[in-house]
Amino acid sequence: MRNIPRVQKLGRNHGGYRGETIDIRAVLHDIRETAGPHGWAIETFGRQGEFDLIALYRPPHPVRPAAPPARIYLSAGIHGDEPAGPLALLQLLRNNLWPANAELRLCPCLNPIGFVLNRRENADGVDLNRDYRHPQTAEILAHIAWLRRQPPFDLYLCLHEDWEAQGFYLYEQNPDGQPSRAEKIIAAVKTVCPIDPSEIIEGRPARGGIIRPNLDPQTRPQWAEAFYLIQHQARLGYTLEAPSDFPLQTRVHALVAGVNAALSA
Ligand SMILES: [Zn+2]
Repeated sequence: MRNIPRVQKLGRNHGGYRGETIDIRAVLHDIRETAGPHGWAIETFGRQGEFDLIALYRPPHPVRPAAPPARIYLSAGIHGDEPAGPLALLQLLRNNLWPANAELRLCPCLNPIGFVLNRRENADGVDLNRDYRHPQTAEILAHIAWLRRQPPFDLYLCLHEDWEAQGFYLYEQNPDGQPSRAEKIIAAVKTVCPIDPSEIIEGRPARGGIIRPNLDPQTRPQWAEAFYLIQHQARLGYTLEAPSDFPLQTRVHALVAGVNAALSA
């Protein structure tokens, strides 16, 4: 008996993502409709064409008022060919099973036009997740301005997909050697989605689906959102990568399980 679900790659992704797409207008509508009744405040921090760029905030529900809340940030949808991320955040909002003493901030879709175009980049062909060091795009200038208005985060989680992956994997950034949540995330995801067994993923050494890049952002010419976060706003975080040659529902389950494991650790 293998300890992984018998879900297979679809074999569709030749040269890029060729799987199911989503109606991002409907998903964002559902996110708003779900968040409001569950006590989330919705803020518009920027625009992208016809779309508002939104952030959701949920205050802590402290069990013991003396305990400081965990400040947690989640983002998705910066790459328009990675539909499982926004869908996973919608599912998490519907589940409404957040740690009580958490102060939560969510950016559910940083590149809505990318989903209309079903491509990684924005309307101008720019990969927004490379624009965080010397930002030029209106989207990331607005996002960074919003981030700078927020307090430091105890944990960030960025939800992504990889069309070439053999299974789920993650990047951990943990420069201070805090207790890792990586193994718990992998163990939870393994129950719903295969883990990528490769020893090299995206050119970096990986073990059991975990990549620990140990990169100094200052040495990198371009910054992903995660580099900005680790440099300015957080000292622990995970980029979760669902394998987008698997069925969309499997990838949503994988990201939801990964987030829940990271939050409960
Ligand atoms: Zn991505």
